[in-house]
Amino acid sequence: MTFDYDLIVVGAGSGGARAARVAASHGAKVAIAEEFRVGGTCVIRGCVPKKLYVLASRFRDEFEDATGFGWRVGDVAFDWPTLVAAKEKEITRLSGFYEAALASSGVELIRARATLTDPNSVRFANGRTARARYILIATGGAPVLAPHIPGIELGVSSNEIFDLPEFPQRLLIVGGGYIAVEFASVFARLGAKVRLAYRADLPLRGFDDDLRSRLADALKTAGVEHRAGVLPTRITKGAAGLEVEMSDGASLTVDCVLVATGRRPLTQNLGLEAVGVNLRENGAVAVDAHSRASVESIYAVGDVTDRVNLTPVAIREGQAFADSVFGETPTTINYEHTPSAVFTTPEIGTVGLTECEALARHGALDIYEAQFRPLRATLSGRAERVYMKLIVDNSNGRVLGAHILGPEAGEMAQLVAIALRMGATKSDFDATMAVHPTMAEELVTMRAPSRLLRPQA
Ligand code: NDP
Repeated sequence: MTFDYDLIVVGAGSGGARAARVAASHGAKVAIAEEFRVGGTCVIRGCVPKKLYVLASRFRDEFEDATGFGWRVGDVAFDWPTLVAAKEKEITRLSGFYEAALASSGVELIRARATLTDPNSVRFANGRTARARYILIATGGAPVLAPHIPGIELGVSSNEIFDLPEFPQRLLIVGGGYIAVEFASVFARLGAKVRLAYRADLPLRGFDDDLRSRLADALKTAGVEHRAGVLPTRITKGAAGLEVEMSDGASLTVDCVLVATGRRPLTQNLGLEAVGVNLRENGAVAVDAHSRASVESIYAVGDVTDRVNLTPVAIREGQAFADSVFGETPTTINYEHTPSAVFTTPEIGTVGLTECEALARHGALDIYEAQFRPLRATLSGRAERVYMKLIVDNSNGRVLGAHILGPEAGEMAQLVAIALRMGATKSDFDATMAVHPTMAEELVTMRAPSRLLRPQA
């Protein structure tokens, strides 16, 4: 068989771009197809612009706290169009950087949607066709607008929220996951009246319960109104904004409804099933530990496989694929101890098992907790608490989970993840000298467990 390329990658996001560049560095002839902007969700309408908006929102606290430290702060005002334009400039720069990196690696960028026509062939929307020894699906995911109620299409997803033409003074957010709580925190600090409606009793299902309840309290303190166990039942356009009927009988008038009820893998209309690629029930490409799909020449990495839907994971999967297939170094990913952060204010940083998970998998646990007022709050006067928790296996002292709520929790989770990955015990934490005065020093100065948990007989 003759091929035009060794590899065609479909989707130039974090995972696809990394795979393409590494494959090319191993000597492969590579093309990458992208129908939207190069960079994918993370760069264009995910992690990067989100973090920029988080940083923008935190200036409110800076201005307020500064007075306690002797600063006299004049009138402050926030201008939404300035932030949107500045964000746009930065993501355009980053997208250009991605394109330049692909070009300098020798990867050909094809600006068109690609559809598979057989296990080795692709048709591009510009009419071109090409054959490749391998095809990598890295198309990511897209927001799901749920629940299916009349008027849900009047809501926006995280794709649109960044570029709203006008700042939403009254915002209803539906959902209680990462995206919902992050935007609730951002928009409340930027000055919006935010209501957060979710179907559970607390946001962030799957996170440690002690973090969930403390985050919910902190968001309430920041002015976010919580509607736990309540969802919209109907949305209509009214003279004063969007009229929303809620399941508890309440009616709200808002400027915008952000629907953040999860994401689905983007596998529709790619020709995957027709060429024999097995999809999971939710549409994700089913892959093995080497990211290989049910067709030998086809692989998939990142959110389209719905394994651990985080950018650094997609990048590792892309790298492992390229090293395995083109670098003669078979590589698989260890997903254990994948740290993550939720960029609310206060922030969450977490790695390892939650208390419930640890209890289900291990025997008795020692729970170490620290709760304290950060030094900054002493002069700012802000009612703010940092919370830290270590979950320790009572039988051998291994630290199974570390959970942090407070400033820079994401930064701390990154470093503590190294220790957990290396199998650190509580005595390793204790033997580590503190850096004083920091918040992180509390991680190595927790002396006595606050609780001993035993699995139920
Ligand atoms: P999540 O899966 O985190 O949360 C979805 C939320 O929507 C949950 O509260 C869920 O409720 C709720 N929900 C789902 N279906 C329905 C329904 N039919 N009716 C009502 N509520 C519903 O998704 P997100 O959209 O917040 O984020 C998507 C993914 O993006 C995340 O899983 C994460 O991988 C990634 N991400 C990571 C970030 C980070 O690392 N900081 C930031 C943003 C996104 P319930 O819990 O009850 O099921």
